[in-house]
Amino acid sequence: MTSTVITGIAELVTNDEHLEGADHSEHLGRLSDAAIIVQDGLIAWVGPASQAPAADSRQDVGGRSVIPGFVDSHSHLVFAGDRSAEFAARMTGVTYDGGGIANSVNATRAASDDELRALVGVRIEEMRAQGTTTVEIKSGYGLSVEDEARSLRIAAEFTSETTFLGAHVVPPEFVDRRAEYVALVIGEMLSACAPLARWIDVFCEPRSAHAFTEDEAREVLSAGRDAGLGLRVHGNQLGPGPGVRLAVEMGAASVDHCTFLSEEDLEALVAASDTTVATLLPGAEFSTRSRYPDARRLLDAGVSVALATDCNPGTCYSSSMPFVLALAVREMGMTPAEAVRAATVGSAKSLRRNDIGVLRPGNRADLAVLDAPSYLHLSYRPGVPIARALEERGRHGS
Ligand SMILES: [Zn+2]
Repeated sequence: MTSTVITGIAELVTNDEHLEGADHSEHLGRLSDAAIIVQDGLIAWVGPASQAPAADSRQDVGGRSVIPGFVDSHSHLVFAGDRSAEFAARMTGVTYDGGGIANSVNATRAASDDELRALVGVRIEEMRAQGTTTVEIKSGYGLSVEDEARSLRIAAEFTSETTFLGAHVVPPEFVDRRAEYVALVIGEMLSACAPLARWIDVFCEPRSAHAFTEDEAREVLSAGRDAGLGLRVHGNQLGPGPGVRLAVEMGAASVDHCTFLSEEDLEALVAASDTTVATLLPGAEFSTRSRYPDARRLLDAGVSVALATDCNPGTCYSSSMPFVLALAVREMGMTPAEAVRAATVGSAKSLRRNDIGVLRPGNRADLAVLDAPSYLHLSYRPGVPIARALEERGRHGS
């Protein structure tokens, strides 16, 4: 058991609202000239460098800032194929209705296990290179019993936060037999996938002919809950709809997108703020040239808000949390501090995790280091690769 002291931290964002001696403005629990002691992948001590206890080895980050690693709580990384032409068409005015997902389904089914594993690995490396230390990965491009289970098996090689999304879209071969597909999802497919997943998710979007209605979504979520899975919902992305109401009603950990919200939706999210997080995915609105969610309205009302990438081949092929933060600040009215919190402790909450997102003793030592004197640079320097996951010397994997 060896310990490492990380020093040379010009500014440390801990998100720990109880840290003694920290600057608690904007709830960031900030320290300057800080040190962290890491032991066995966990934080053993956090405080001013001048008071750091002895450790076996030292790692100096050279006057950079350190924040909790980003928690990307919504991604669709298990896919093959290329849909850049669809993006190009959309930029000329073709609208998104969820139909292109079938292209990814065909390519994903055709790919070998090794091909899919390599693709996911590259995307995870991209994420770590931009400061992400936890990622949730959904299935949803298999849409058959074998291919959904395979997607989750591969996802589970990279993360414990795996989500069964058999109810992503109705696959082409079931287009005239929707009820049969829902029965498959909650029957044989769920039985095969539940042991490989922590969560179940559903694309509840009555505006898309490919996605699921309120009643179908309720059926899927109920079956998932009975199988022991936690609940997540894609809701209110393309227009007003039942997704948010349903997520709150069923005690889902997260309802994602939340672009079109009625007053009733907002009130429901405020009342459920201990249980259900509103996860905003502004990369999707950016890449589909759509209206952004009103983050300011959510935060001012007291809703729990998270940020994630939605990294997927159709509506947002970006793995970059710093890009999402820049959008949140520039386009959705969040302060830089609110954006950092939403992308760390906020998205950790959406995964019902207390051991990540806040840097305090006992938590995982998941850190991101910034080539910058302050976290403000994350949104101040859009597109500049200043963030990366801190690799502790001598430690591999996480
Ligand atoms: Zn999604």
